[in-house]
Amino acid sequence: MWSNWVGNQSFTPGYAAAPASEDEVAAMVSDAHERGFKVRVAGARHSFTPIVQTDGLLLDLSDLRGVIGTDARRKRATALAGTLIRDFYEPLWSEGLALKNQGDIDTQQIAGAVATATHGSGIRNTCFSGAVRGVRIVTAGGAIRDIDESEPELLRAAQVSIGMLGVMTRLELEVTDAYRLTEQIDLWSWDAVLERWDELVHEHRHFGFFWLPTEESAALYNLSSHDETMADKCYVKIYDDAGPEQPDSAVVGRRTDRCYRIYPMVYDPNFHELEYFVPLELGPDALSAMRDLMLRRLPDSIFPLEVRTVGPDDAYLSPNYKTATTVISVSGKPGTDYWAYLRSVDALLSEFSARVHWGKLHFLTRERLHALYPEADVFIRARRELDPTGMFLNDHLRELFA
Ligand SMILES: Cc1cc2nc3c(=O)[nH]c(=O)nc-3n(C[C@H](O)[C@H](O)[C@H](O)COP(=O)(O)OP(=O)(O)OC[C@H]3O[C@@H](n4cnc5c(N)ncnc54)[C@H](O)[C@@H]3O)c2cc1C
Repeated sequence: MWSNWVGNQSFTPGYAAAPASEDEVAAMVSDAHERGFKVRVAGARHSFTPIVQTDGLLLDLSDLRGVIGTDARRKRATALAGTLIRDFYEPLWSEGLALKNQGDIDTQQIAGAVATATHGSGIRNTCFSGAVRGVRIVTAGGAIRDIDESEPELLRAAQVSIGMLGVMTRLELEVTDAYRLTEQIDLWSWDAVLERWDELVHEHRHFGFFWLPTEESAALYNLSSHDETMADKCYVKIYDDAGPEQPDSAVVGRRTDRCYRIYPMVYDPNFHELEYFVPLELGPDALSAMRDLMLRRLPDSIFPLEVRTVGPDDAYLSPNYKTATTVISVSGKPGTDYWAYLRSVDALLSEFSARVHWGKLHFLTRERLHALYPEADVFIRARRELDPTGMFLNDHLRELFA
């Protein structure tokens, strides 16, 4: 029985395997193809949606792990698909390089993070998928295929594919010069954040915040502060490049350190998350409507509202396709019936043309997919060409992408 990190998705695959090389992946996919089995890959299990589920072959690529090449001049790094985000840190730093941006945790596999367009915050950077410059995949018949910048259209499909083009075995990412960050974490009022919205979004490398609807909210995401009251406050995080004259500092909320030591947070598996992306400029109105919804109509919604921004890219299935976005996340409590709440959030944010996070709970239909992702049909054509029998689909993905 396979289950995800938080336990809201579980299934028993037909059979499972952990290949130790690309050749073994190719042989296993080819064998499954001949025997008529479907294939899915499990990453580090951090998605909340049924995007891993299969009754066929479930592959675990944790043995295909490690950064296998860096090019400091071209700012590139190549890693095997099962490499964890945290595995990039030392090999890149020792070459004067770093990942361009990161999200709240660093325990995902790079292929899993890329497959769902995992993101951090800051409009000067894209999600992980936007930094992908090449992918090696094992396609439906078991052939090994490199997709790179010489095939830009196919690369745009492979940058966000939710594993539907084939099994990724290695990825090439654009990286950046090593950088240190200085952190400012403070509790602000809602009005103070919205009044300074433009400055916060445009003038900092990273800006994001958690709005805490109730006094208990902060503890649910392990956020702490010395302030007496945290209810209806915003836990604001701003990270900027540290100058060479700024020494490292471990003062909580005012740290200065290597970038990868500043980004990661620690979460407990106590939430089921939905995360939607609205065009950047609609952010303030969408946020005000969300706060109103949570305070006035849904008093049980006590998990923090997380707010981030992401820069645009041009991957067909990216939530940031050709637009920078304001990213809004809410969570329901495991064991409670939070579906009415999440549906209300879905209905509200739909009014703001919201796209979805493929790894987090959503209510997207095929009709909405095509309305919101103008090149979804180009992705689907590429998918059908590479996988004519749909061996990399499952029930959840078939509804949207068959
Ligand atoms: C505590 C927590 C914090 C999070 N923080 C963030 C955040 O800050 N920002 C954000 O954007 N998201 C965040 N997420 C979501 C998470 O980054 C995504 O769900 C991501 O896809 C998980 O990566 P994974 O390695 O666990 O992959 P999985 O969830 O195991 O798989 C994700 C998808 O990738 C496919 N896949 C995996 N490996 C391969 C491969 N080799 N070839 C083909 N397909 C493959 C899987 O089949 C699946 O469809 C968070 C999730 C949790 C639980």
